[in-house]
Amino acid sequence: MAGIGKIGVIGAGQMGNGIAHVAALAGITVVMQDVAQAQIEKALATIARNMDRQVQKGALAAAEKDAALTRIAASTDPKVLADCDLVIEAATENEEVKKKIFAGLRPVLRPDALLATNTSSIPITRLAAATDRPGRFVGMHFFNPVPMMKLVEVIRGLATEDATVQAVAGLAERMGKTVAYAADYPAFIVNRILLPMINEACFALHEGVGDVASIDAGMKLGCNHPMGPLELADFIGLDTCLSVMEVLHSGMGDPKYRPSPLLRKYVEAGWLGRKSGKGFYDYSVTPPKPTR
Ligand code: NAD
Repeated sequence: MAGIGKIGVIGAGQMGNGIAHVAALAGITVVMQDVAQAQIEKALATIARNMDRQVQKGALAAAEKDAALTRIAASTDPKVLADCDLVIEAATENEEVKKKIFAGLRPVLRPDALLATNTSSIPITRLAAATDRPGRFVGMHFFNPVPMMKLVEVIRGLATEDATVQAVAGLAERMGKTVAYAADYPAFIVNRILLPMINEACFALHEGVGDVASIDAGMKLGCNHPMGPLELADFIGLDTCLSVMEVLHSGMGDPKYRPSPLLRKYVEAGWLGRKSGKGFYDYSVTPPKPTR
């Protein structure tokens, strides 16, 4: 295949709209596809608003924004993906949903098109086996918010061909990202290292080694982390943190990955972090108040 000129993005949620945003600014034609028309409308409005913000900050020329927006189309019909060189699946994190999407793509995609998934936790090799093109299937894991975060993990499944890895890595670089190459093991590289640290902070809190404020201040000021681990856990969502630990625990079969009982308790309480208004901090007051 001669270079990637047009991509499809399946799922117009948080990640899908960010991927479309950055690709369009890199001069790539993008078509977003989602089952929900309302999500498409929300995504297009979010992209326009986020680009406006870049223009206001002087990071983007108004003419570049206008040109990028004309490169983005969207539809609820998967047939719009027919002439894409690469389709990036960024739909809901649910294996059955993703497998159904891949089955639906069989009659639609060009035979030489590449297919990538932005999954955070489902094995690439297992998803690849549900497609008609395991050699041209790869993990392309962006970070949230996509326009700000510089990393893309490129994850090779058992059957992924070298040319596929090179093509998506080249695209990630055109999008201004740096690539980290990961093998297909639970949580890949970044979450494999980050989530056990957050989980350890939960154990330290549980055991009374420190309170929320001391643990976060310790890691911010003692390790120069921009956010403390508990503040970061609230930002990610405590349910998401727990689910990554469960993937690590079951996927590696090693007790060192067992989720902290306190983390589980917070999730059971519905204290999921920023999105629910309360987690390790209570966000109903300014500044947010530690809950322990
Ligand atoms: P989201 O809930 O914001 O968006 C998911 C979108 O998928 C929704 O708009 C939904 O309507 C759409 N969708 C559901 N079923 C569909 C179908 N059959 N066909 C087309 N669209 C469908 O989710 P998100 O946070 O953007 O996450 C998307 C993917 O990216 C997940 O696999 C997630 O693990 C991964 N991811 C998320 C983050 C993050 O921080 N949010 C970071 C990296 C990777």
